[in-house]
Amino acid sequence: MGAHHHHHGGAAAAFRWSVLLNALLTGAQLAIGFGFGSLALIGDAIHNLGDVVGLLLAWGAERLSLRPARGRFTYGYGRSTHLAALINGLLVFGAGLLVVVEGLDRLQQPEPLVAGPVAVAAAAGIAINLLSARLFGTDSHLDLNRRAAVLHLLSDAAVSAAVLLSAILVALTGRTELDAITAIAVGAAVMVSAYGLLKQALAASLDAVPEGQDLQLIEAALRGLPGVMAVSELHVWGLGGRRVALTAHLQVQGVPAADLLRLGEERLRELGIEHSTLQIEPIP
Ligand SMILES: [Zn+2]
Repeated sequence: MGAHHHHHGGAAAAFRWSVLLNALLTGAQLAIGFGFGSLALIGDAIHNLGDVVGLLLAWGAERLSLRPARGRFTYGYGRSTHLAALINGLLVFGAGLLVVVEGLDRLQQPEPLVAGPVAVAAAAGIAINLLSARLFGTDSHLDLNRRAAVLHLLSDAAVSAAVLLSAILVALTGRTELDAITAIAVGAAVMVSAYGLLKQALAASLDAVPEGQDLQLIEAALRGLPGVMAVSELHVWGLGGRRVALTAHLQVQGVPAADLLRLGEERLRELGIEHSTLQIEPIP
């Protein structure tokens, strides 16, 4: 899983269990991966570690974002969620790259591998991810975030299944380079998912229009207000979580500013924008 897994009140127990099980799994996979020479298992463990760290960072940032604005932090601490996703994305991307590089190295010089314990740890990965998916998935059709979480857990189970398959093949054929090949694939998959996370986090850090908001729709809504002749200086950005801020200048003819402000803020609230600052510029 990644930092995109939001958890709500009802899912708090599922969240705790998921973190605990994944942390235990990660520790066991790392120990067995290093102890018995399976880079593929280490790659799987690094992915799971990224999930745990991502969940904990997202949880910490979410708690921080609930603190009220204070002193110099006039926006509060909401954007710590962006920072958390950025740090997690960088760490996981780097770890995935390390696994790929090490995998290429081991293709040249295969290292001895004890397949039995590796297969057991990979099987545990499948079981725990499927169990977590079951915990999250009780009413997954109701909530997009939880659906994404379930899909991710199922893809994690698939990664562990690849490691299990490669361990079985190594045991049957004795070709340890299969482990390196699987590790390269796992590392590449880790990098791809981390890249997606990084891209989102970077966009948020650069004050891009938040995902789920349509800039053209917002501009059209403002232009559609009575008396508005032109819209300029339009800025839309995220404050962390689901909070969205907007500032804009409206060139206006023949409508009292107070009425227009009330209408405009109402319209923007319908679009999910709670924090708007509109500057009214009357045209004579
Ligand atoms: Zn995952």
